[in-house]
Amino acid sequence: MQRLILKNVNLFDGENDKLEEKKTLVIENGVIADILSKDSEQAENGKVIDLSGYTLTPGFIDCHMHMLLEEVTDKEESLATTSPGGERLDTAQAAVAYLGAYNCRRMLDAGFTTVIDGGGNNFIECALKEAIHKGYIEGPDLFIAGKQLTTNKAHFVGFSMEPYGPYGMRKAVRDLMYHSVDHIKLQLSPPIRMIGRNSQACDFTPEEIEAAIDEAHNYATPVHAHLRGAEAIKRFLRADGDLVVHGTGIDEEGIELMLKKDRYMLATLLSPTPTPSKELAAAKSQGVLDLLAKTAERHWASVKKAYEAGVKIAFSTDAGTLGIKVGTNALEFMNLKKIGMSNAEALKAATSVAASAIGQEDKIGYIKKGYRANFAVLSGNPLEDLQATQNVVMTIKDGKILKDSREEQVSL
Ligand SMILES: [Zn+2]
Repeated sequence: MQRLILKNVNLFDGENDKLEEKKTLVIENGVIADILSKDSEQAENGKVIDLSGYTLTPGFIDCHMHMLLEEVTDKEESLATTSPGGERLDTAQAAVAYLGAYNCRRMLDAGFTTVIDGGGNNFIECALKEAIHKGYIEGPDLFIAGKQLTTNKAHFVGFSMEPYGPYGMRKAVRDLMYHSVDHIKLQLSPPIRMIGRNSQACDFTPEEIEAAIDEAHNYATPVHAHLRGAEAIKRFLRADGDLVVHGTGIDEEGIELMLKKDRYMLATLLSPTPTPSKELAAAKSQGVLDLLAKTAERHWASVKKAYEAGVKIAFSTDAGTLGIKVGTNALEFMNLKKIGMSNAEALKAATSVAASAIGQEDKIGYIKKGYRANFAVLSGNPLEDLQATQNVVMTIKDGKILKDSREEQVSL
């Protein structure tokens, strides 16, 4: 039996607004076997680590991002996928797979043990998920969408299927099921920066949306949708869609539908944010930056309104797009605070609330007996200073230590 014992640690358990101080966690075969008070004799026999002064939280969950995307290329870290003349090379797809592997490492380093991918690239994410599952590489648990269903090739190369009509939608969902996806992703609003398209239009008809959702639900599979307009949000909810991604422009009726149907918003306040990253500002034209700034204002106001009305918001970032560097996901904690969440609420959004949003609340998102031993260990107390979420010193998944930088901290 594999036993790991974490001693003298302060716990945020995903539920209580206070830390439980100086607890000892006993982990057996990757599962929390016991939570003890400081001096128990049962806390021996195994690998013992003293975590005095650190805070342990459930491993973070990002409910919407893109593991195979780097919209704004990091010049230092990117693999070459184009020739000096700008021609796309045959190695491009293989490079995407390596990017995915690298992003797994960046997510673990940031304390994220679960990731919901909002749309992948040519089914490479299916192989990535399996590689993690088989232990070829270390990575967070991936829940994948496969290709997004769009009206035309709108978002990114390799990302979309373009079904037509209700039967086309059903066929596309079945094709995705063949790839063992975990959820279906509908693009019901155009991408923000499609010049000349109306962001308020809903791309699919009610019949098409109903058909896709009905077919997915037939397979007991939830449906997520990219939503940037009031009408698209309402069509999606009326057709019994599950997870509202972005939710920009939601109106009163949309909020009422969310509350009535008990739905979660994956608010992605980073996408877009009123304060874009330097990388994004350098990479985009002024016209696009203006458009993003306008959308950010509308988006943040929408999310705030929904939050104040009682809509449940699960932590999500859209990292991989819009210059949001994978691994900087914890920046979203501060954004959630800016729309009014307390530190505890923001932490729950990325742990217990996120686990419920994806139907995993009986396995992850809490520190409880019988739950998977997925943890982020932070330097500092995030209930006092939420910036501590950016100081992850240890990441543990299924009782296995996948990051440990405590020594480096001391030598710094
Ligand atoms: Zn996205």
